[in-house]
Amino acid sequence: MLTGAICCMAIGCLVATTNASLAQTVNHTAVISAAVNKTEAKVIGWRQDFHQNPELGNREFRTAEIVAKHLQSLGIEVQTKVGVTGVVGILKGGKPGPVVALRADMDALPVEEKGNLPYTSKVKVNYNGKETGVMHACGHDGHTAMLMGVAEILAGMKKDLKGTVKFIFQPAEEGVPPGEKGGAALMITEGVLDNPKVDVIFGLHLNSQLEVGKIAYRPGGTMAAVGTVKITVTGKPSHGAKPWSSVDPIVVSAQIINGLQTIVSRNVDISENPAVVTIASIHGGNRDNIISEKVEMLGTVRTFSDKDEKFVYKRIREVATKTAEAAGASAEVLLPYEHYYPVTYNNEALTATMLPSLQKAAGKDNVQLAVPNTGAEDFAFYVQKVPGLFFFLGGMPKGQDPAAAAPHHTPQFMIDDSAFSTGIKAMCGLVLDYMDMNAK
Ligand SMILES: [Zn+2]
Ligand SMILES: [Zn+2]
Repeated sequence: MLTGAICCMAIGCLVATTNASLAQTVNHTAVISAAVNKTEAKVIGWRQDFHQNPELGNREFRTAEIVAKHLQSLGIEVQTKVGVTGVVGILKGGKPGPVVALRADMDALPVEEKGNLPYTSKVKVNYNGKETGVMHACGHDGHTAMLMGVAEILAGMKKDLKGTVKFIFQPAEEGVPPGEKGGAALMITEGVLDNPKVDVIFGLHLNSQLEVGKIAYRPGGTMAAVGTVKITVTGKPSHGAKPWSSVDPIVVSAQIINGLQTIVSRNVDISENPAVVTIASIHGGNRDNIISEKVEMLGTVRTFSDKDEKFVYKRIREVATKTAEAAGASAEVLLPYEHYYPVTYNNEALTATMLPSLQKAAGKDNVQLAVPNTGAEDFAFYVQKVPGLFFFLGGMPKGQDPAAAAPHHTPQFMIDDSAFSTGIKAMCGLVLDYMDMNAK
């Protein structure tokens, strides 16, 4: 989790530099716009190619090769196979300054696409023993293509750049195959934030229900921390006709599930932050007249602060174990179980300082405050280590009803090609403005 120490350090640093050097900020809007006009068609082409050739987490071999070749062609220093298939580009500017990291994720999802675009994915793979379609159903194809465009534009400004840009093309944001490691956490372990040491990181996510041209951002907790919970209730089996001989784990599980509902509705201060406790899977018994010994439940827990996370985890353990105990059963609670991402936390001072860069990219009226997003993102691991800003970019065709637009991770998910120019402008603007404000 983000510690107070990291947070305060960053705030102190940013406030000082901002006051001292805001006057030195140049308006890069016209230069960036001209460069984006030249690059946009290529970005759309790359994105459509990635969309038609999606690859699952830790299997982004083709995508990574295209990215690496592109960066090399721009004269950018390239590292490959960072965190399995990750690609890192280091662009050293002609002038001294901070190290600014930009991150794009490259992986697709095991979803069969239902669309009839010329670049609709027909790719199928064996996933968990079943033939499954593969689709860029979260927009990571767009993230990768946009960052390739940003790299091309910033490489063209190399001699005037006041610092270094680190381009992070990350695999496996959506998770890894069983038994493997990957994603942001593995790239960090393998040193992606060191040599040169990253001062600040920016990232974006396309949103299929936000109109093209718009940007949404939120200071502080912007996407939830996620922890999977596994609860195993152990009772005593008996004949279904003689339940008094049993300790029925199914009845106990039902009581636990009902008890868990009160954590968010009666224990969490929802005026401060939302939280979610969902039990999504329950398995026990295999016949009508046998009371089983065990029930297994799986669920997901979402919170927006360290404090809420600790509190909700504690209450889940208490409710499950004490309810079981009262019934003469026992409950084992594994939390987090297998899957955990921390909260994606936007440094407040950094967000306030960089907001004008987003407004220049999209126009002031097109930048809005986002509600807390109960989805999770492994960008969270980077912002535990360095101050960062993660924002949302509209991908829904203009004029469409957001309620009618297909959500992320579904077969009809769609991002409009006209989304990318605003994203490229925003990323370039963030880099150039941050460098102006923090030049050495
Ligand atoms: Zn996703
Ligand atoms: Zn995503």
